[in-house]
Amino acid sequence: MSQLDPSCPCGSGKLLGQCCGPYHAGSHAPSAELLMRSRYSAYVLGLVDYLVATTLPVQQSALDREAMAAWSAQATWLGLEVEGSEVFGGQPEHAQVTFTARWHDENGEHCHRECSAFVQVQGRWYFLDPTAPLKAGRNDPCPCQGGQKFNKCCAPYLGT
Ligand SMILES: [Zn+2]
Ligand SMILES: [Zn+2]
Repeated sequence: MSQLDPSCPCGSGKLLGQCCGPYHAGSHAPSAELLMRSRYSAYVLGLVDYLVATTLPVQQSALDREAMAAWSAQATWLGLEVEGSEVFGGQPEHAQVTFTARWHDENGEHCHRECSAFVQVQGRWYFLDPTAPLKAGRNDPCPCQGGQKFNKCCAPYLGT
């Protein structure tokens, strides 16, 4: 991605400043799909702070910032395709976004299809990172602080 190319890396066809850019600058993404797209763009642009800030707060300390930065820098990002997103009712609200990301690195070309989960807490969407397990008992208050028991809230979305 050239520094001179103003189009958004998420592939929306819009300019960065009219797509993911405002979210990177601090506006809250209004949907899980837009948050997911802006996180892909952040990987392309090496915005590790943004990737951390948009992960569920209680998971942020478990993230490996250096590994994220290294992966972001090493990869040549080839594109994002969002297949669909589903928003589930309830409080707090959860959503799942299915997408395919493609990139190229020293080991060749990769294509990764994923169904990512998101939760909305106090009006803001966060990525639920399945690699940073939440430590809570099934009947404990959910660590997302959405006010539900863990097993009725984020647990099912993390495969726990
Ligand atoms: Zn975008
Ligand atoms: Zn929760």
